[in-house]
Amino acid sequence: MQRTHRTPAALALLLAVTAALGGCGKEGSPPVKGPQPDQIPLYRVESGFALPDSATWNRAKRRGRLVVGAKEDQPYMGEKDPATGRYSGFDIEIAKMTAASLGFDPAGVDFRTIASANRETALQNGQIDYYVGTYTINDNRKKLVGFAGPYYQAGQSLLVRTDENDIHGPQDLAGKRVCSAAGSTPYQRIEKDYPKAELVAYDTYSVCVDNLLTYQVDAVTTDDTILMGYAAKVPGELQVVGRPFSEEPYGIGVPHGDTALRLALDDAIAAHEKNGDWKKAYDATLGLSGVPAPKPPAIDRYPSD
Ligand code: GLU
Repeated sequence: MQRTHRTPAALALLLAVTAALGGCGKEGSPPVKGPQPDQIPLYRVESGFALPDSATWNRAKRRGRLVVGAKEDQPYMGEKDPATGRYSGFDIEIAKMTAASLGFDPAGVDFRTIASANRETALQNGQIDYYVGTYTINDNRKKLVGFAGPYYQAGQSLLVRTDENDIHGPQDLAGKRVCSAAGSTPYQRIEKDYPKAELVAYDTYSVCVDNLLTYQVDAVTTDDTILMGYAAKVPGELQVVGRPFSEEPYGIGVPHGDTALRLALDDAIAAHEKNGDWKKAYDATLGLSGVPAPKPPAIDRYPSD
């Protein structure tokens, strides 16, 4: 196949256009499958549910709706349609199914986009009730926020252009420009374990991908879940290489100390795993990447914050 040469500006435009079209591929390629709304389960709202010990739940109940932090530029996981303002993806379904268990209509959840570096602050200052957006559970973060789950296990990977021949894994990053999101665990891992890489940070991974397509950086690194979504958006231009080189267990972030909310969310995740909603939601979103639904990881109901 002969490769067409694209100027950096044309590539940036291509990505912007594909984003605006909600996931259509470049001309001549089949449209990239987006989340399939008809396959997504309807979650039963627990109308009699009450959680009087949770300050966060009480505040949301008075307000009449739940406010959930999410990502808006991560295909398959959390993506906002610029035309309708609607959010979709596996994380969004996790937010909706758990909302239903807490007695909130999933259709009425207010999603707010919060970047990786701002999650802890958003939970600490009450900007959001909880957060569902590729958020890795770890001990450092547990000093600042609580985590329900994990509800999925991802792993750090690398995204490169298809014309890249030198990068096959993190060991090849010495002297290469590598982009990730500020405040993320993948950024921190490259900084610590691969110090010869030239790290570049932006607020979001989609800006990293623009920089990759325009030859400003050589690789983008974050979780495989996120990178597979970008690769699917521009077929033939980008590829995920190597094997995942970390464990990223995804949790629902809650305000630190709201143990009642955290444990109620643990119960909710467990119930939806058991009744089949989790798998159906996975199949209709992240499963479109071609990876069959794994067994969900064991939930860690840790006793106190
Ligand atoms: N899961 C990683 C993290 O929580 C990377 C993805 C993200 O930045 O949301 O830092």
